[in-house]
Amino acid sequence: MAATRIDGKALAAKLKENVRGEAASLPRKPGLAVILVGEDPASRVYVTSKRKDCEECGFYSEEYALPAQTTQKQLLELVAELNGRADIDGILVQLPLPKGLDEREVLLAIDPGKDVDCFHPYNVGQLTIGAPVFQPCTPGGVMEMLKEYRIDPAGKRCVVLGRSNIVGKPMALLLLHAHGTVVMCHSKTPDLKELAASADILVSAVGKTGLVTADMVKEGAVVIDVAMNRNGEGKLCGDVCFEEAAVKASYITPVPGGVGPMTRAMLMKNTLTAAKLHQGV
Ligand code: NAP
Repeated sequence: MAATRIDGKALAAKLKENVRGEAASLPRKPGLAVILVGEDPASRVYVTSKRKDCEECGFYSEEYALPAQTTQKQLLELVAELNGRADIDGILVQLPLPKGLDEREVLLAIDPGKDVDCFHPYNVGQLTIGAPVFQPCTPGGVMEMLKEYRIDPAGKRCVVLGRSNIVGKPMALLLLHAHGTVVMCHSKTPDLKELAASADILVSAVGKTGLVTADMVKEGAVVIDVAMNRNGEGKLCGDVCFEEAAVKASYITPVPGGVGPMTRAMLMKNTLTAAKLHQGV
């Protein structure tokens, strides 16, 4: 059986189109401020694509490219200023921050109502109790994909590889809230292969090329590859051995063109949500 390829690029374009439509009907354009500290080339690429997404969705956007020598105090002052701005609905601090800056303190300083990345403990708490204001972008994008392809996690065994605060943990929570039976795996999980092979829905968010081989995929499973790794030739790839896994899976996401574009689209959706809240719509 050849798996259906889940087209994240097409779905993200559709999602952004809907966001654009809704944004156009608001009294004021949604506004997103993106802060980049230092010269990390990958972060630079992400920030540029966020600006492009804002243009596509008809948002107002501001970008702050700060030098690596920026102090914690300067960064906190900028966040405080943006918290107070009526035209800014979302504030995103591009991670990772350069060494010497306290990421946790910076994320805590963002007004939870403008925390469109859903990293603030308030929003993480809301997510945990099943009442999220914002959807965490990457796991939220995965849930949108499942919905689009009519894949219902209810009653399914969902195995999540990776337990980071950004992907693994919120992914597990969203699947749990959708009534999946969730198993979380990490670097200390001894029987990873067997657990993965028992999954109806397998989500890999580890960051290790070639980790998920065909023997870890159950016949008919849905395989979601969150990872964005570089192979030996510098090409973007995921954790899953795509060709061999696709022979057994029922649905599978490619890398690139799978979860990545959905993450970006979800950031736009969250900024729209924040703008609606701020404008009382
Ligand atoms: P991370 O913070 O490095 O977390 C990786 C997780 O994988 C950790 O929980 C770690 O376990 C676990 N792990 C490491 N080796 C393992 C192994 N051999 N077997 C099982 N689990 C193992 O990474 P992240 O930020 O969650 O990102 C994960 C991947 O997703 C990366 O490739 C990243 O680039 C990608 N990503 C993609 C998007 C997107 O939009 N598509 C967004 C964010 C991240 P421990 O906790 O025990 O260390």
